[in-house]
Amino acid sequence: MDQHRITIKDIEPLVPFSRGSTEIFLTGQWSPRKPLYVEKTSPCRQGCPIGNDIARAFAYAARGDYDEALRIYRQENPLPGVCGRVCYQPCEGECNRKDFDEAINIRGFERFLADHGTVDTRRELPLRLREERIAVIGSGPAGLSAAYHLARLGYPVTIFEALPEPGGMLMYGIPEYRLPKAVLRREIGYIKQSGVHIRTGVRVGAEEQGQLSLARIRRDFQAVFIGVGAHRAMRVGVEGEELPGLLEGIGFLRGTALGEKRETGRRVAVVGGGNTAMDCARTARRMGAEEVRIICPEMPALAEEVAAARREGVKIEPPSIPTRIISKNGRVSSLECIATNLETGAGGRVEFVPLKGSEFVVPADTIIVAVGQTPEADFLRESGVTINEKGFIEISAGTAATSMEGVFAGGDGAAAKGFVADAIASGKMGALAIFCFFEGKDVKKELEKHSIGYGPSFSFRHLIDREDNQIDLKNIVTYDRLNTICVPHASRNQNPERLGAKQRLGTFREVSSGLSPGLMEAEVSRCFTCGTCTRCDLCFLLCPDISIMRLGEEGYRVRTDFCKGCGVCATTCPRHVIEMEDYSPGSSRTTAGGGL
Ligand code: FAD
Repeated sequence: MDQHRITIKDIEPLVPFSRGSTEIFLTGQWSPRKPLYVEKTSPCRQGCPIGNDIARAFAYAARGDYDEALRIYRQENPLPGVCGRVCYQPCEGECNRKDFDEAINIRGFERFLADHGTVDTRRELPLRLREERIAVIGSGPAGLSAAYHLARLGYPVTIFEALPEPGGMLMYGIPEYRLPKAVLRREIGYIKQSGVHIRTGVRVGAEEQGQLSLARIRRDFQAVFIGVGAHRAMRVGVEGEELPGLLEGIGFLRGTALGEKRETGRRVAVVGGGNTAMDCARTARRMGAEEVRIICPEMPALAEEVAAARREGVKIEPPSIPTRIISKNGRVSSLECIATNLETGAGGRVEFVPLKGSEFVVPADTIIVAVGQTPEADFLRESGVTINEKGFIEISAGTAATSMEGVFAGGDGAAAKGFVADAIASGKMGALAIFCFFEGKDVKKELEKHSIGYGPSFSFRHLIDREDNQIDLKNIVTYDRLNTICVPHASRNQNPERLGAKQRLGTFREVSSGLSPGLMEAEVSRCFTCGTCTRCDLCFLLCPDISIMRLGEEGYRVRTDFCKGCGVCATTCPRHVIEMEDYSPGSSRTTAGGGL
């Protein structure tokens, strides 16, 4: 059975029951409640920091309209090809299908749309142009997202980027085998087509050093969004860190992205357990290192990255920390480490306690340190922007405003969560805050109007296109509200890997391939599209009073004169789009059509 088109033979007989005694009225009592189509919000959307309207996009895909599905995504996120590859997919953790069999491969879907769908940027152009000029500093996902959404609101936007190409860590951090540069360049190309001007090779900083100053930008632009990321590598703080043969993880990856050939030698030790550390280890393996070991007390990296590193021959030492760098002939030769235990100290603070006598030595021709980054924010501090004690730009919660009037910030530089999706979300937030700044609106109230469920994300489509947008953003469809009796169990379709573990070494070709059109179709048919009508016709077919009319493209209409209010349509709706509303005398309710 195609889940999105149900025929009579698929349905087990359902009997509408009387709500009153059949001793008085032989056909049963009529109810004053009548069906009302209300498009709602899926839990996956609530779980997505960007607020992608995932269920609606799946509903279009179910009709074979992948271009429209992609357009739905792009209304919230200008980087679906990027997120479809590297996002940590919090949406999938919220997917209702996980309570039925397995969560939908939502990230695979986003990638498929970006790789196969057609983008028509003319449909993203603003309806009106505004005059206030906006500068964005930094072209990582936060800056790109802020610029894109501001351009959609009609503002002229210029991005200033220090490096030769835009993209931030997407271009110079995450390696090609996970995120091909061609995918990123294509999406940045669309952002430019939407009207954003990008000036690369321009570092904002101290005027006396020949750089463009923040003061100068503030003279020429009416608002500023700062998305400078966190590019200053943190140190481990052990003896010998200045020795040749020790590299900073970020610099190592950036050099590789710029095509610099780095000799790492045969044995590499990587210090750190985050995504940067995993990418340093996997890159070192690709550059010819035979023995790569990771030393860290904990592993905050995504589980799939840890698994991939292991498959590629990277050895992860038991929880430990480095204590000393040992040198030979003036350069690093090995790393002394000590095993650690995770203990909860006073006030609930987690501590890594060294285990006496557990010292061990890791031989290493190169040591790569990837233990975190902070922003290079000295120029901001000197310009008067408040930087907190940890070195991050201070912004007020829920408004993205810095201490300086008209200057907003987001992304890793303002201590976002350290993921692409959160950086994109904070760029959106910055765009909303700048819009409110010019329009004299209260940003917190505006955010509340467009926020999705109870999460921090909000809908840009809802802000821009309110007339056309009837979705109830606060009404989240939970699993118990769905009717799954017609849904067959089916396992999740995973993205295949195009390269085996051995084939990957010596090449930076992308490891994972996207879902094939056939697998994608199967995955699309698994999605419950919670809260979004797909016009499956179940309500139409099951209504005992023939009071539901099909309106073609516009969905359905209820002929209330014929409806007895039995509620079969609402109870059986697989997506919980139909509500039973009280139409007793005095109620002002009118029924409206639902559907895409
Ligand atoms: P950035 O992406 O860092 O961009 C900031 C930009 O500002 C840079 O282009 C920089 O050159 C520019 N800039 C800085 N200072 C100036 C200045 N003074 N003037 C002009 N321009 C300036 N996240 C995930 O979700 N999934 C992953 O798998 C993942 N893997 C990662 C792997 C690595 C190796 C790294 C380093 C990060 C990874 N991340 C991952 C995290 C993610 O890349 C970041 O959270 C995200 O890029 C932060 O976005 P941003 O826009 O805040 O900053």
